[in-house]
Amino acid sequence: MMKRKTRFATIYFMQLLFCICGHAQNDSAYVTEHLAMGNPNNAAANIGIPGNYLMAKHQYVHSYNRFLGIPNWVAWHTDSTWLGGIRRSNHFRPDSTLPEKWYRIREGSYRGTGFDRGHLCPSADRTNTPTDNSATFLMTNMIPQAPNNNQGPWAALEIYCRDLVKQGKELYIYCGGIGSQGFLDSGRVQIPEKTWKTILVLDAGEHDLLRITPSTRTIAVVMPNNNAFIGKNDDWKIFRVSVDSVEVLTGYDLFKNVAPNIQSSIERVVDNQ
Ligand code: MN
Ligand code: MN
Repeated sequence: MMKRKTRFATIYFMQLLFCICGHAQNDSAYVTEHLAMGNPNNAAANIGIPGNYLMAKHQYVHSYNRFLGIPNWVAWHTDSTWLGGIRRSNHFRPDSTLPEKWYRIREGSYRGTGFDRGHLCPSADRTNTPTDNSATFLMTNMIPQAPNNNQGPWAALEIYCRDLVKQGKELYIYCGGIGSQGFLDSGRVQIPEKTWKTILVLDAGEHDLLRITPSTRTIAVVMPNNNAFIGKNDDWKIFRVSVDSVEVLTGYDLFKNVAPNIQSSIERVVDNQ
C-alpha cells in the first residue's frame, strides 16, 4: 500500500495530467475547426513571440499582437450550428486568458476616441449559446473601428455572410486590421488604417478541405477605417478585391491548407456575384 503522501502526490499528478491533456485536446479541436484552412502566419501559443500569439477559443481562433493591443487576425468557421436565437450579451471585458503579465485592454479603453469597439468575429455569428455569444465580447476580439466602416458596409457584409449560411452554406473567415493611423489607450491600442476580410464559401457538408475546387467562391474586401473615406451607406461590394491582394497587403498566406493549384485559382479572382 502506498504511503499517504505518495498517494496524494500520485492523485494530484494524475489530475494535473488530465487537466493538461484535456485542455490540449479541446484546444486542438477548436484549432481544427476554425483554422481548417490554415494558420496564416504560423502563430503559436508561445509567450516568446508576443507579436503573433495564438489564442484558441471554442468560438474562434486568433493571433494576438501584444505590441498593438489588437489581434493580427481572427479566424472562425460559421455554419448553421453556430446560429440560434441568443441575444447580444454586450459584455465587453478584458481577456483573462492572456498571459499573466500582459496588459489587458479594458472595456473602457476605446471610450471617447470616436472609434467603435469593432468585433472581428461578430456577435451575431455566435448566437447558439449565451457562452458562445459572450466570448465575442472579449477585448482581444476587437479593433478600433471607424463608425462608418463598422456600422456601414462592414456590418452589411456580416449580414450577407449569415444570409449565405441561412441559405445552406458554411463559411471560413479570416479578418483583421492593417496599417496604422495612430493609437489609443495611451499608445496601447493601434488604430488600423484599413480593415480586411476573406471568406471561403462552401455548401454545408463534411470534409470541407477536400471539397474545395478551383471554382469555389471566395469573397475578399479591404475597407478604409476612416469616416472620411467610407460612407455608412456605401455598398460593401465596391470594396471587393482578390484574396491575393489581401495576402500582398498583410503578408499572410490565407487558405494555405488548400492545395496550391486550387489556392491560386480561388485567390486570384474578384468575386462578382
Ligand atoms: Mn461590428
Ligand atoms: Mn493563400
